[in-house]
Order: sequence, then C-alpha cells, then structure tokens
Amino acid sequence: MGFNLLTLFYLIGSVTFIMGLKMLSHPETARKGNLLAAFGMILSIFGTIFLYEDNGTPLHNYPWIFGALMIGTLAGVMAAKKVKMTAMPEMVSLFNGMGGACAALISIVEFRHITAPFSLPGWHVLLSNNDSAGLYIPIMLGLIIGSISFAGSMIAWGKLNGRINDLSFKGQQAFNIVLFLAMLLVSGYLIGWLDSANYLLFYVVFIAAIVYGVLFVLPIGGADMPVVISLLNSFTGVAAACAGFLYHNQVMLTGGILVGAAGTLLTTLMCRAMNRSLWNVLIGSFGGNTAIAGAAGVAGSYKEISITDAAVVMAYAHKVIIVPGYGLAVAQAQHTCHELELLLQEKGVEVTYAIHPVAGRMPGHMNVLLAEADVSYDKLLEMEVANEQFRSTDVVLILGANDVVNPAAKTDPASPIYGMPILEVEQAKTIIVNKRSMKPGYAGIENALFFQPKTSMLFGDAKAALQKLVAEIKNL
Ligand code: NDP
Repeated sequence: MGFNLLTLFYLIGSVTFIMGLKMLSHPETARKGNLLAAFGMILSIFGTIFLYEDNGTPLHNYPWIFGALMIGTLAGVMAAKKVKMTAMPEMVSLFNGMGGACAALISIVEFRHITAPFSLPGWHVLLSNNDSAGLYIPIMLGLIIGSISFAGSMIAWGKLNGRINDLSFKGQQAFNIVLFLAMLLVSGYLIGWLDSANYLLFYVVFIAAIVYGVLFVLPIGGADMPVVISLLNSFTGVAAACAGFLYHNQVMLTGGILVGAAGTLLTTLMCRAMNRSLWNVLIGSFGGNTAIAGAAGVAGSYKEISITDAAVVMAYAHKVIIVPGYGLAVAQAQHTCHELELLLQEKGVEVTYAIHPVAGRMPGHMNVLLAEADVSYDKLLEMEVANEQFRSTDVVLILGANDVVNPAAKTDPASPIYGMPILEVEQAKTIIVNKRSMKPGYAGIENALFFQPKTSMLFGDAKAALQKLVAEIKNL
C-alpha cells in the first residue's frame, strides 16, 4: 500500500514538473508554474521520507533528515529574499553547484555501498555482488558530471561577483581535452572491470573532474557566464538523472532529465540570440575582466541633451520606444520607467518597449524586471517586431543598454559581437541614450551609435534621470 501511494506521489511530482515548466514559458503563468512544481517537489520529498521502504525497512534517521532540511530551507529562503535582481545569475550558479555536489556525493556514498565490506590488498576492493556492476555506470557518470558542475559553478559564481578573474595558460585547451579523455579512459577501465573496483582510481577520477570543472570555466569571459551557467545547469540535471537510475527513483529521473533538457535548450537559445556557436562561447574570452576594443576604433564627438529638452521631445512625440538594458536593472529604475510610460500615454503618446533576448545579464531579465513594475505584457515588443517599428518611431529612449544596440554587430567583422542580431534603433528619428558615462558595456567595446548625429546622451543614473524626466513632463 505504502509503495503504491509513493508511486502515485512520484507520478504527481513528475506531472507537476512538466506542467510547471510549461507554465514558466509565459510571464503571466510563470509564478504559478513555479509554485506548482515546488508543490510536486515537496510531495515527492515527503513521500520518500515517510513512505519509502528498503526491503521492508522504512527510513529512520529522522533527526538528521529534518535537521538538514531545515538548514537548507532556511538558507534558501534567506538567500532568495536577500538577492538583488542583478545578482540572480550568481545565486542560480551557487545553487546549481550545490546540486552538482549532491549528485557527486551520492556517487561517492553509493560506490562505498556496492563495494564489499572487505578489501583486497592495497586500494583494490570487490563489488558486493554481480548486480553492482550495472550500478557502476550511473555512479561514475554522476561522479564526473556532478563534480564538473559543482567546480565549474563555483568558479562561475566567483567570476560573476568579481572575486575570480579570467585565467588561462598556454595549452590549456589541449590540457583540458587530455584530462577529459583520461577521465573517460580510467572510468571505462573501472566499469569494465566487472567484479572489482579500485578506491584509488575512483578518487583520482573525482579529483580530475573537479580540476576539469575549474579549468573549463576559468578562461571563459565574464559576459558569457550566463551561457556557461545554463550549460552547467543541464549537467547537474543529467547527474541527478544518474542518481535516479541508481535509486530506481522515477521522480528524480524525470526531474533530472527535464533540467538536463531545459538547460541544453536554454544554452542553445542564448547562443543563437548572440549568433555565436557554443564552441565560440567556450573558447572565446568575451567581456568580463578583459576589455576588448573593436578593430575599427570609434571616433568623433557626441552631444548631450538636457532633461528639459528630453522631456519636451518625448512629450510631443507620437510614438516612443523604450529600450531597457542592464543599467536599468542596476539602477532599479523599472517602477519610475513605468511611471514615465503612463505619463506619456496620458499625453497621447504611444509607448512600447523593445526587448532584446540577451539584454541584461540573464535570459528574460528585462521581462522579469518590467513585470515587477506591472508593465503590461502586450507593451513588450520582441526584437524582430521592434525592428520593423523603429522606422516609424519618433523617439527611442535607451535606458542603460549598450551592446544590444551596438551597430558594430552588423558593420564591423572584427568586433567580438559581430553577427549578433541587435535592436536597429538608428532607424528612428531621434535617439536618446541614458547612461552614466561613455564607458562600454559588458562586451568591453565602444558604441558608434552614441556618436551619430541623431543620438543625444542623457548622462546620469537611470533612476535619477527618469525621476527628473517625470517631474519635468508633469510641468509641461
Ligand atoms: P551592457 O552591459 O552592454 O550595457 C549596460 C550599460 O548600462 C553600460 O554601458 C553602463 O554604462 C550602463 N549603466 C550601468 N549602470 C547604470 C545606471 N545605474 N544607470 C544608467 N546606466 C547604467 O548591457 P545590455 O543590456 O545592452 O547588453 C547585455 C550584455 O550582456 C550583452 O553583451 C550580452 O551579450 C551579455 N549577455 C547577456 C546574457 C543574458 O542572458 N541577458 C547572457 C550572456 C551575455 P555606464 O557605466 O556608462 O553607466
């Protein structure tokens, strides 16, 4: 009876994961989707704790289980409440690393379980029975993938919060490839050695996987970290699925496969949005601590616009498109931005937002930011739609965006962002760019748009500038 009920719980858990994932694909249903999947997870966890039986023996060490659950829940809730929207990729990376570490620890524990209680001389141990040999494959896979994911995620976390710099040495790619092949070879040897195992080689593979995870992420440029995190996220999913195989646990298997597939799809979509291959992301050093200049240096002078002039230009326009970017998130200016939108609308101006798929620092960053300020979803134009509309637009107001409106992506083959589709704002009649200085964006390159005759710079923090604009327009 207990077992059947547990299977039902697992089935409900799996279904809620799939439904939750589907609901996450739209901002209107995303919050509910998240809650639904969390409900399925809670049901599966508590079902396992109270209904799971191993050969008739239920779980028993409840103080340990609930102690760990409470510590984990407390840490998770506090971190999620405290985190700033701009630091979200960091937190995702940290939590993802913990998932990878769990998968690797499961493999270490289960390796000890499948080995016989007695050892042969040296590090050599016997497998407890022939069935154990079948478990060896998911154990080794979980160990390697989970350890890479843990170590890589920790490095990505350190890079995003500026604690770790890009680091590479001559021949690092070749070293990584050799290390990876050596890991596979040793694992293959261990798995192929049917009735026995070797502790020494097992821990050598574990350490090699940690080193590989570190060296794999260290040289990758800071701006590419979200892509790497998404890739490592898919690794953690696969590692968790391996643990699902080990324990014959359906919900772990489904959850792991879903995370693995979703992470892979997201990685592919992000690369496509930047028009770069995954290989280019993994071996390139794009953004972060290394500033790269485009080959064709940008020269010329730029002009500034005053708050009063900007207010007049926008208040008397027919159509305004706002382009939000990373700076808007930094300034936490989304609410003031919405206020400006409503104010202009009252004055009869048509206002929409142009959303670039990689604006900000994580997928959907701008959508989440604007949703937080109650901006209506139908006001958000996807890049392709916006690009058709700029021609008939009077004013484009760029708020803390830079790379996503950089024409070098179209015109300068030597630019690191060449080929990335951009918001073609230069087609509008007037362009107002709000940022704090002439400093480059994350790709570390100059932006010729700022020097064009149609463009005026409105310097200042996005929130302060928007507050002044709102006050000025109210007085008109
Ligand atoms: P950028 O990083 O190109 O530019 C942001 C600009 O905001 C900066 O030039 C900065 O200029 C300005 N800024 C910073 N703080 C403020 C503030 N308080 N007020 C006003 N302006 C401010 O951002 P984009 O959104 O245009 O582009 C995103 C970049 O991240 C792209 O290179 C993209 O490829 C990359 N990326 C994004 C991913 C995603 O999933 N979204 C994933 C991977 C990469 P100043 O210092 O002068 O104020």
